[in-house]
Amino acid sequence: MRQFVDIARLPDTAYDLVIIGSGFGSSFYLHRLLERKAPARILVLEWGQHRLHDRQIADNRHSDIAPQETFRTASDKVWNFTIGLGGGTNCWFAQTPRFHPSDFRLRSLYGVGADWPIDYDELEPYYGQAEAIMAISGDERMAAVLPRSSPFPQPPHRMSAPDRLMAAAQPDRHFAMPTARARVATAQRSACCASFRCSLCPVDAKFTLNNGLLHLFDHPSVDLALGAKVTRLETRGDAVVGAVVESDGSEVRVAGDRFVLGANAIHSPAILHRSGMADPLTGAGLHETFGCNVEVLLDGVDNFDGSTITTGLNYGLYDGEHRREGGAALVYFDNRWTHGLRAEPGRMRQSLPLMIVVEEAVEDSNRVSVNREGEVVVHYGGTSAYAERGQERALAKLPDLLAPLPVEDIVLRSQRPTESHLQGTLRMGNDPAASVVDAGLVHHRWRNLTVVGTSTFPTCGIANPSLTAAALSLRAASLV
Ligand SMILES: Cc1cc2nc3c(=O)[nH]c(=O)nc-3n(C[C@H](O)[C@H](O)[C@H](O)COP(=O)(O)OP(=O)(O)OC[C@H]3O[C@@H](n4cnc5c(N)ncnc54)[C@H](O)[C@@H]3O)c2cc1C
Ligand code: SF4
Repeated sequence: MRQFVDIARLPDTAYDLVIIGSGFGSSFYLHRLLERKAPARILVLEWGQHRLHDRQIADNRHSDIAPQETFRTASDKVWNFTIGLGGGTNCWFAQTPRFHPSDFRLRSLYGVGADWPIDYDELEPYYGQAEAIMAISGDERMAAVLPRSSPFPQPPHRMSAPDRLMAAAQPDRHFAMPTARARVATAQRSACCASFRCSLCPVDAKFTLNNGLLHLFDHPSVDLALGAKVTRLETRGDAVVGAVVESDGSEVRVAGDRFVLGANAIHSPAILHRSGMADPLTGAGLHETFGCNVEVLLDGVDNFDGSTITTGLNYGLYDGEHRREGGAALVYFDNRWTHGLRAEPGRMRQSLPLMIVVEEAVEDSNRVSVNREGEVVVHYGGTSAYAERGQERALAKLPDLLAPLPVEDIVLRSQRPTESHLQGTLRMGNDPAASVVDAGLVHHRWRNLTVVGTSTFPTCGIANPSLTAAALSLRAASLV
């Protein structure tokens, strides 16, 4: 039976482990702990409520808490996330490429950014395990770029006609999109039917906590408190001893031996700031990839015959010496008519929408803090010159990349306001002077505090981040 606990009764219980948040970072960590010998009493503190899939569809939203109402900012930059049981597993589009081996060694290879304290090979088995949990569909040929020791759990989605032409000409660079949108139905999920509303998938085809990991909260060791917003942690010496929870205007303190902080890359550092646990790096480095929408007008090839929303991924503009000067780019081939269908007779489907996503530099001035009232403040100064140069290069190289296609025109349609991928505010590293947590995601100073989720990313990468966050959590919990 699911153990929902009454927040008012929390102080009566001493927990071995207190987990804050229930998104990718927290839930994959909990999953691995329960597979091993779990601590006797675990409490999950989740700010949001629990909405099953049917209710999300009926209400046309995942949560009553709008992300932009949870922080203040003077910038018009959009930061997007979900407050609710399962966090980003509810709203994500389920695109799941791994990070590239070079992403972990940016400083050594290209003299920019930072090296991660672990490399691709160390994370590789955990990538495979996270892919198994989410039943990822993918293309085995991808091992040419991203080596793998285990097969994709599901076969690849059907590529569109433009993808097939690209893959035939560039077999080592153009692949079917890896995704947690089911290619074939599972016991919990329908097969993806390319209806293109992935944030609120009508047929429950993508992996979510609801359809994949809800059983975690049935475990007899696990208590779950909903509507439990953690405002701060309490410390004694170099140990965290309690979490302060705000609910219905009052505060409750809960004690624990060990803590896991997975409240997303804006709210996790804010909690440390309010707790008096922040050094200058805490909250510094908020970033996400920089994307634009491009439409390729095709001459004689029809698109939109693939089996999911994004069917192709092209690595032709990704790795290389250009990363010294500007961000790497990843090109997503879409199977949806983002820019409408074409009006010319017989050419309705001769449109290829691309998303070009570029690596961002991590700048400490883009940061999260809290004001005197304890409100979260996001300081953001704009896109870096590094990302802008990366985008310029990608757009300049695009005609060559698309040489296998009959291209009539390439039109830059819009800059994307957000990729919904907040990252980098509690970065991992070996050097306590240059990072907040170590390679096992344990805080350099408070050794009974582990930080999970995308806040721990030392550099941006380009791939969608959740698979990497899940793999890092599986690894961190395996090391405990
Ligand atoms: C529309 C959209 C589409 C996306 N598509 C993709 C995609 O296709 N592929 C991909 O890889 N990523 C995608 N993402 C990004 C993905 O959602 C995040 O990368 C991922 O969720 C980050 O994991 P996390 O554990 O760091 O944080 P989250 O998953 O956001 O989890 C944070 C958790 O903490 C809780 N919380 C926050 N503050 C507190 C507090 N004070 N007290 C208690 N609990 C708290 C939240 O409710 C939540 O449960 C998408 C995001 C959005 C919004
Ligand atoms: S393409 Fe359609 S069926 Fe597939 S995950 Fe998205 S919304 Fe669901």
